[in-house]
Amino acid sequence: MLQLSSITKSFHGTEVLKGIDLTINQGEIFGLIGLSGAGKSTALRTINLLERPTTGKVLLNNEDLMAKSENDLRKSRQKIGMIFQHFNLLTNKTVADNVAFPLKLAGWNKNDIDARVKECLTTVGLFEKAGSYPNQLSGGQKQRVAIARGIANHPELLLADEPTSALDPITKIEVINYLQKINKELGITIIIATHDMSIVKRLCNRVALMKDGLVHEKLDVLNSEIHPTTEFGKTFLEIA
Ligand code: ATP
Ligand code: MG
Repeated sequence: MLQLSSITKSFHGTEVLKGIDLTINQGEIFGLIGLSGAGKSTALRTINLLERPTTGKVLLNNEDLMAKSENDLRKSRQKIGMIFQHFNLLTNKTVADNVAFPLKLAGWNKNDIDARVKECLTTVGLFEKAGSYPNQLSGGQKQRVAIARGIANHPELLLADEPTSALDPITKIEVINYLQKINKELGITIIIATHDMSIVKRLCNRVALMKDGLVHEKLDVLNSEIHPTTEFGKTFLEIA
């Protein structure tokens, strides 16, 4: 469903992505792992052109996103949801209004928005918090609201940047379970950038180990196990 080919990204003349090639299949949960600074977040952000690659191609369902007009790109972006480490909820809006936000931007009518917000909050088990404000929620609840917002507009793909790293171990599992649920029940493909090997092993089908702006090694996750073949891969998996 998604192909990144030869993606490079430079900031002020410094190349931080040096030619990323990745193919992500419909329905999988794919992990981007690697040391801090390897380029995981930047690679993730090139997928919805939050960071526009310096060179290379992003193909979503065989459509070249970089070749699209602003208007067409906006439509394509609606197929991609995103969640972040620090949740990025709107603090002055209720939980329901946070989830409604992308739907308002997409021009949905009020009745459809209300029904969809209810559905998404029910999916993450938070309908009873619809009228609360983000600062009245725990970290795990905030991330579940972010997931509800991320799936509101029926995306095909959800990008998750360190979605559990602000959470305690128990709450982390709860959020992982909801990600698993939306993948299985709604068929949403997920790409997750993380340091956390326990969530990778629990959640992902495949991973790309990044090093210095390149994909160093692509690995399958089988029965919660990963078997790297490169020296760096072995060392990384040992220390991670
Ligand atoms: P972490 O595990 O710490 O989140 P990461 O693998 O996600 O790291 P990135 O955030 O993608 O790494 O950063 C890769 C490199 O790109 C780093 O050297 C970073 O300083 C640089 N970088 C990222 N964003 C910018 C930016 N907006 N301007 C300049 N440099 C940037
Ligand atoms: Mg990062």
